[in-house]
Amino acid sequence: MIQMKITDRKKIALLSSRNPKSEAVSKELWSKLKEANFILTPKNPDVVISIGGDGMLLSAFHKYESILDHVRFVGIHTGHLGFYTDYRDFEVDKLIENLKLDKGAKVSYPILNIKVKMMDGRQVTARALNEVTIKRLSRTMVADIHINHVPFERFRGDGISVSTPTGSTAYNKSLGGAVLHPTIEALQIAEVASLNNRVYRTLGSSIVVPKKDKIVIEPKHDDRYSISVDNRTFVYDNIDRIEYQLDSSKINFLASPSHTSFWNRVKDAFIGEVE
Ligand code: NAP
Ligand code: MN
Repeated sequence: MIQMKITDRKKIALLSSRNPKSEAVSKELWSKLKEANFILTPKNPDVVISIGGDGMLLSAFHKYESILDHVRFVGIHTGHLGFYTDYRDFEVDKLIENLKLDKGAKVSYPILNIKVKMMDGRQVTARALNEVTIKRLSRTMVADIHINHVPFERFRGDGISVSTPTGSTAYNKSLGGAVLHPTIEALQIAEVASLNNRVYRTLGSSIVVPKKDKIVIEPKHDDRYSISVDNRTFVYDNIDRIEYQLDSSKINFLASPSHTSFWNRVKDAFIGEVE
């Protein structure tokens, strides 16, 4: 007789947004996963199941970003189908079946790494799944943008967003940026309301930067800036420069038969049915 070793049991963490529908799905999952002999624990999980929307998956990513390399995520959406969510709320049984059959297959997407360098030499690093946006709090932001060591332009305007491929359909898209297929390893710079006239000039369009190129943004005034990393915002007041590059780690998702094509997701989210 072959006995399942204790260590073979998959450790699963459940994270749910605070609304009745998500909490009901979470409860149902909890009891069905227990019944199926999975270990439910928030500590050092093999798989993290996020229940809610894409916003909830962003929170799950940040909660487990220190163990990115050995964790896989899976999202259940309790509204429409999302970009980071492969299952709908009525597909709990299907997810459990797929978890039982799972042999560790994953789908991985690039994430963004930033280094905020302060004037006093301190440095703060962060990772983003969607994007990092810098804005000056009081007045027009003036900043020099360097791409792969080329002093590219002096930007004036509200701010600058640098997004990942999967983040291209989020804030980046609202800023007029392009939608990037997530297998393209690149970052995208998008302007937030740039000032363009006879005196001030920026490229105007968004820019897609390859993996090897570092982006550096140097704010020109010693002032307060907000730096939004996905769904969290931080305020700093002595930034020297911010460096952006693709991170050496990726986010891993549980590869499942329900992982619908990227173009179907884009169509489902922004276009709907075509006659
Ligand atoms: P939120 O303001 O509650 O939601 C922003 C919306 O963006 C939600 O509908 C969310 O979907 C959707 N979304 C998140 N990631 C996405 C992605 N990769 N592709 C397409 N849509 C996506 O904030 P939140 O839920 O905490 O999410 C934070 C994100 O909001 C930021 O990373 C930024 O991208 C985005 N945002 C957008 C704007 C804008 O478009 N003007 C402004 C600020 C922030 P769900 O409903 O499924 O959660
Ligand atoms: Mn949301």
